[in-house]
Amino acid sequence: MIDNQPENQIKLVQGDITQLRVDAIVNAANCSLLGGGGVDGAIHRAAGSELLAECRKLRGCGTGEAKITKGYKLPAKWIIHTVGPIWEGGDKREEELLAKCYRNCLALTEINDIKTIAFPAISTGVYKFPLELAAEIAIKEVSFFWELNHHLEEITFVTFSDRAYNVYRQVLQKLNP
Ligand code: ADP
Repeated sequence: MIDNQPENQIKLVQGDITQLRVDAIVNAANCSLLGGGGVDGAIHRAAGSELLAECRKLRGCGTGEAKITKGYKLPAKWIIHTVGPIWEGGDKREEELLAKCYRNCLALTEINDIKTIAFPAISTGVYKFPLELAAEIAIKEVSFFWELNHHLEEITFVTFSDRAYNVYRQVLQKLNP
């Protein structure tokens, strides 16, 4: 894992989000919440079958919404499941919906006493959201949240590929949150 800790509380990490010892990790789920490929599959495999049982009771999740479950076998106590938009060229409210994912995940932190949270690059895998734009939205939304809310101590962006890590690093430098 490459770990880069700037002086503020945003961290950028490259690696597998299921390994992180944080209060909550975010899952880039699909509307069924019943598991899938990519980060969703990795989280379900690592958390174990009890996660699927709890997810069944949630009866799905709309695009841009977020729902919370326990973390089960993960080091993280909680999993916040959100459904990112599928990129369809940019004129189907994709940017607004991705921003909503971040906002709704962050909104769940206060009521669940979550102080540390890790996000994957939601929608940038099979949902094909352009990586740089997704990184900008992610970083702007956490910055807006921090202006008004002070209970979160640390927000980690977890990138999987070298390319995603480099894009996030550049966008963090550019926006300088
Ligand atoms: P989506 O359907 O929202 O695009 P994906 O799981 O296909 O979700 O991809 C979202 C992002 O998560 C991609 O950038 C992908 O490289 C990354 N990813 C895949 N597996 C992991 C993992 N174990 N930990 C962190 N990020 C992951």
